[in-house]
Amino acid sequence: MNNVEENTARYDRARKVIPGGVNSPVRAFKSVGGTPVFIDRARGPYLYDTDGKEYVDFVLSWGPMIAGHAPESVVDAVRAAAEKGLSFGAVTEAETQIAERIRGILPSVEKVRLVCSGTEATMAAVRLARGATAREKIVKFRGCYHGHGDSFLVQAGSGALTFGNPSSPGVTRGAAQDTLIAEFNDLGSVQKLFAAQGKDIAAIIVEPVVGNMGVLAPEPGFLEGLRALCDGRNTLLIFDEVMTGFRVSLRGAQGLYGITPDLTTLGKVIGGGLPLAAYGGRADLMDRLSPEGPVYQAGTLSGNPLAVAAGLATLDLIMAPGFYDRLEALSARWENDLGAALARSPLPFRINRVGSMMTVFFSGKNVRDYDSAVACDTALFGRFFQACLREGLYLAPSQFEAGFLSIAHDEAVLARVAEKTERAVRSL
Ligand SMILES: *Cc1c(COP(=O)(O)O)cnc(C)c1O
Repeated sequence: MNNVEENTARYDRARKVIPGGVNSPVRAFKSVGGTPVFIDRARGPYLYDTDGKEYVDFVLSWGPMIAGHAPESVVDAVRAAAEKGLSFGAVTEAETQIAERIRGILPSVEKVRLVCSGTEATMAAVRLARGATAREKIVKFRGCYHGHGDSFLVQAGSGALTFGNPSSPGVTRGAAQDTLIAEFNDLGSVQKLFAAQGKDIAAIIVEPVVGNMGVLAPEPGFLEGLRALCDGRNTLLIFDEVMTGFRVSLRGAQGLYGITPDLTTLGKVIGGGLPLAAYGGRADLMDRLSPEGPVYQAGTLSGNPLAVAAGLATLDLIMAPGFYDRLEALSARWENDLGAALARSPLPFRINRVGSMMTVFFSGKNVRDYDSAVACDTALFGRFFQACLREGLYLAPSQFEAGFLSIAHDEAVLARVAEKTERAVRSL
């Protein structure tokens, strides 16, 4: 068997025992065609597949690996933690340390609770908002993704959008009815919901920079408008910064745009590649959580010592002076090179970038909301994806995802990426 046949055989074997052969849908490459590449290991900006082929990685585990794959200090910290025991289900000082660190970085987060996934964080944040306001409805934006909790699988983004089922079977009518849908970057659509049902709305949850329809930036006034709508109405503003936290700036999107949410959800970067996520915010709200208050949320592996060690070591790396300035310079170069390669082709395209999150949309029109995102040429994206993969560039296998850069994607790596991109675009 050659490599392609061997890879197909691996995938066939996986599909016999795992639905779709994957443990998270977009990994299946369905919307771009072909068979997913099985990964063996990763280091710095590179992924290596089971056949030993090297790829420059722009997925970075869907965001966490902002310092590159397997940074020595993080691996050492996890190893040291593992030597002391894998899980205790009891309090550790490291949990206090990471909570203090998060609070020091994000002034809106006075108290924080650790969980194991972004999905858990958003589900718990919404439960807390409902408990605190004694209201049941939430507002979310069409195409935004907040994990796979029932309330959020109504007009959701990411894989749900990629596979054309943004509203999932299995979500009860009750759950769907309590989720009101507005349009991103359209304050009027939110005002309408408030005019009709404002006294029932517990919270607005938003990706302050959208990553899960591809990257969409908030237009001036949009986030400010959401804050103003919540103020004085006993409605909470939840920033889902699972992707943008410690990513678009050290202080996330709330730091970048200067908006203070009531609650924030974190994930991805905070765990440095291990299962760690968090939600936090105003102390008076967080103190409504059990055992301090009546709103229940718990977890056997919450605050797991390996995950917390990885998180603390990752925070050490990203808090180094100049980290985000350097990441921004590298990201700007990445954008310029890709834009230059595509501009030399007849293909219509738009690049949206906020910090080290970027998406190229194949469209002749600016992409700023759900409608303009889904109007893109996804078939052309699929061809672009395959051409890049052949050249050894590993992009997210969907038009509706963000690409990520790490600090390990240095000038030398980006120069090679520019050549490979040029060849990939010429082959289309
Ligand atoms: C990834 C993501 C989630 C879900 O996090 P998981 O760890 O995959 O459960 C939630 N919200 C946003 C904005 C995300 O990008």
